[in-house]
Amino acid sequence: MTMTLYDTMTRSKREFIPIDSPLVKIYCCGLTVYNYAHIGNLRTYVFEDLLRRTLLFNGYKVHHVQNVTDVGHMTTDADAGDDKMQLAAEREKKSPWEIALFYEQAAISDFKALNIQIPEDMPRATDHVVEMIELIQKLEKKGFTYVTSEGVYFDTSKYPEYGKLARLNLSEQRQGAREEVIADETKKNPSDFVLWFLNKPTHIMKWESPWGPGYPGWHIECSAMSMKYLGESFDIHCGGIDHIPVHHTNEIAQSECATGHTFTNYWLHGEFLLTKIESDHDGGFGKESKSKGEFNTLKSLKDKGFDPLAYRYLCMQAHYRSELKFSTDILEAATTGLRKVYSLKRENDPLAHDNEAFQAAKTRVLDAINDDLALPLAVGYLNSYGSLSLWKEFDPILGLDIAERSNKAKEAIPAEVQSLIDLRNQARKDKDWTASDSLRNQLIEIGYEVGDGPQGTTVKKRTI
Ligand code: AMP
Ligand code: ZN
Repeated sequence: MTMTLYDTMTRSKREFIPIDSPLVKIYCCGLTVYNYAHIGNLRTYVFEDLLRRTLLFNGYKVHHVQNVTDVGHMTTDADAGDDKMQLAAEREKKSPWEIALFYEQAAISDFKALNIQIPEDMPRATDHVVEMIELIQKLEKKGFTYVTSEGVYFDTSKYPEYGKLARLNLSEQRQGAREEVIADETKKNPSDFVLWFLNKPTHIMKWESPWGPGYPGWHIECSAMSMKYLGESFDIHCGGIDHIPVHHTNEIAQSECATGHTFTNYWLHGEFLLTKIESDHDGGFGKESKSKGEFNTLKSLKDKGFDPLAYRYLCMQAHYRSELKFSTDILEAATTGLRKVYSLKRENDPLAHDNEAFQAAKTRVLDAINDDLALPLAVGYLNSYGSLSLWKEFDPILGLDIAERSNKAKEAIPAEVQSLIDLRNQARKDKDWTASDSLRNQLIEIGYEVGDGPQGTTVKKRTI
């Protein structure tokens, strides 16, 4: 079995070879827990879960780490503005710790509802301040830092490879910065970034440090925690594409300057989920983001009657490196598609009695998935085979609860439901439409889809 993955660093698909097979070490940038996750964030976590599950399906063991950002992520990725945690604490009149715990738990319940497997480690930034300080000291000893009234900075001019992931042109950036105003005038170079914030008296979360009381910059947490849990070099680092130019660029600078060797062997980035911009009358789409105020959460989809697994299924219908334009219409279509999968019948399975054909189909689907997670192609194949057993075979990757939901579709009709059906058939014979409608509603309420066939009322247990 060969897997290829698209590596942002080389801008190419590369065969995946782990450092210490069969173990695969993965680090994914986690949520900043200052609000509910929006469905764009969740798209990225579904993509990372599909990667994890594909590795497991291929026989690898996985050590997956996903941090929880509960301090230091400013309202811009480039250190300016305020700490998002601090703002949320002011907004909700709670402590930043209460905010963090609440939204971390909310995120975990979203992950569970979406069948996202919980990573082996989910370390919180605030529990790793000591490790971050040690890493900054290491960088300081090697001469990569300087201190100003604003904080301890990473000096990007000391690292010639700075910006290699995003292919940044630093001389252009410096030129540009001369024309724009650099937000922080104590910085030596526009691309320098904060490792430790100083002199922020109103910031609630603060720790002692060799440079004075303050709090860590956002990027240092990922370098410190990934290295603590996975070692100085590991296999795969993931995140959304927004992290390429700043966050991941800075993680690489800190980590490689501290250790002297490659931080991560494969960089995988998920494209954005876009939603309609209300004010755009041409029907334009923009990045789903919390700063817009109103944003879609898993709860808001559930409130509209959608099943979380329909959202998961929708995520598989766009390649992780393509934009996904979200609308309730396409979620509706995904729901209908998934309902069809759940109602596939064992008796009509075209591959059930032909092992050779089953194995050939399995290879075709797996080859697609192993080719940089081409889930849309794989799902297309699965739909064209229409084989319940093949869908079930891949459910360890898909995570759609195929066996449970399709059994539900085929459950025998209980006696009390049958008696409601009989009553409704009688009411229709008597042309008592009020009674017929009310019985129909009762059946819907207890979880059935109701239809009218030539023999009278038909029902099916609702699976989604
Ligand atoms: P954050 O909480 O902002 O650190 O984001 C958590 C994860 O969601 C990161 O991997 C981001 O890159 C990703 N992300 C943010 N916005 C979107 C979006 N609209 N679509 C897909 N992923 C996103
Ligand atoms: Zn990170």
